[in-house]
Amino acid sequence: MTAVVALEHTRLRPGEIAASLAAWRDAVLPGTLDRLAPACMCPECSGDAPRRRLDRALAALPRWARSHLYALVLPLDRRFRALTTPDPHAPPDWPWWRRRGVCRGWSSPPRPGR
Ligand SMILES: [Zn+2]
Repeated sequence: MTAVVALEHTRLRPGEIAASLAAWRDAVLPGTLDRLAPACMCPECSGDAPRRRLDRALAALPRWARSHLYALVLPLDRRFRALTTPDPHAPPDWPWWRRRGVCRGWSSPPRPGR
């Protein structure tokens, strides 16, 4: 925890990591077993901004502290991956979570009669 506190008092804001984790969880948990619930697509609600902050924190933490934080982030990342599909139209330089989304038919061929 001391590494998190130190990081939040230098390069981030106090409480930022916990708040980002909660926001990423809130973006990832709604939905069914196989589909993310449609939500507001602004960076905060879609999870992009909080996941970006978590990524920044993970990169800045010392290795031993990073693994503790990553253990909290990983189950959410796994769920997000399970509920989304890769967007073939997303620019390759976007972070991985922005290159995924709820499939709107981007990877399936058009069906006859539609
Ligand atoms: Zn929003």
